[in-house]
Amino acid sequence: MIRRFWVFIEQEDGKIHPVAWELLGVARRLATEISDELEKSNDQAIVEGILVGQGVSALAGEAFQYGADRVYVVDAPPFKHYINYAYTTALVTLVQKYQPEVFLIGATTLGRDLAGSVATTLRTGLTADCTQLQMGIARDSARKLLLMTRPAFGGNVIATIMCKNHLPQMATVRPRVFNAPPPSPQRQGEVIQESVPLDPSAANVEILEFITSQSAKVKIEYADIIVSGGRGLGGPGGFALVKELADELGGVVGSSRPCVDAGWISYDHQVGQTGKTVRPKLYIAVGISGAIQHKVGMQDSDFIIAINRDPHAPIFEIATVGIVGDLYEVVPNMIQQIRSLKEAKHG
Ligand code: FAD
Repeated sequence: MIRRFWVFIEQEDGKIHPVAWELLGVARRLATEISDELEKSNDQAIVEGILVGQGVSALAGEAFQYGADRVYVVDAPPFKHYINYAYTTALVTLVQKYQPEVFLIGATTLGRDLAGSVATTLRTGLTADCTQLQMGIARDSARKLLLMTRPAFGGNVIATIMCKNHLPQMATVRPRVFNAPPPSPQRQGEVIQESVPLDPSAANVEILEFITSQSAKVKIEYADIIVSGGRGLGGPGGFALVKELADELGGVVGSSRPCVDAGWISYDHQVGQTGKTVRPKLYIAVGISGAIQHKVGMQDSDFIIAINRDPHAPIFEIATVGIVGDLYEVVPNMIQQIRSLKEAKHG
């Protein structure tokens, strides 16, 4: 028997979303976590990617480098742009044909929409926004199940959820929660072309035009340097200072949730449990207290600088460097110092 670990390889305009590589790394690890069960049986575990679109077949090769053994490609004009009906039909058809055990999808805007409709059509469970995934023994289960861990009840409880009675066991994971494995350029795999018939009368959406929103360009998940502002800024104008520091460092602007809720900055900038997960090389938290819902989105940053006038602010518990002081004194000072250093360097 083949035990299949599936990953949806999300692409848009022929560009793969990096969360697919992060999930292929996870799927490969999960496949190794059942090696004890494989040894006792004739079963085999394989990691497979699902790629849907038009003119996307050539992209499959990259998936092998990140751990896929095989990629199923649905490549046809009706799949050129994401339409829920078409993509759900493609994924459901393939799941019914190949019966994967685990199916992982990136919790992107597209992935969230797709995963829900695939799971409900298949009448299986779906755990959204997982922060840990593991194959483990579950009580009264003959074999290991996918243990899907995520924050629950506003982040106050960490719950591990199982899908015991239905397959596939489906989970979404936000970008940057896991690191992508290093690519192995020599790794090869098999591409399988699939054709999925669609019922034209069932498609209730027609794409007329794509207009790229300005805010869609903010991709803080993959930034190396993030300067985030919090309620301590005191108002929307404070983000001008945050941006000045970010620009000086070649970084981007992040935010805590209250600033987004207050309309000081758009949601694309929000870091945290209900925003983005980030892992930059440098994260500067300006006027952010460090609530658990914020920390879960940034605590894996390599180097954290926290600026807060309250020496007991919880953000200092995870900061690499803590600066106690008024941000309106500290940040201009930092900008000045950086400019002086740059000037000294460039003569
Ligand atoms: P505050 O907690 O008000 O902190 C402001 C800080 O600024 C204080 O520590 C203060 O000492 C400091 N300060 C004030 N003035 C100055 C100054 N002049 N100089 C220096 N420091 C100053 N939050 C998120 O960020 N992201 C999420 O995704 C998120 N999701 C949530 C999901 C749920 C279900 C819930 C219940 C909450 C969520 N929250 C989230 C909200 C979270 O609980 C906190 O309320 C929020 O993170 C606090 O934001 P803050 O640190 O900017 O504000």
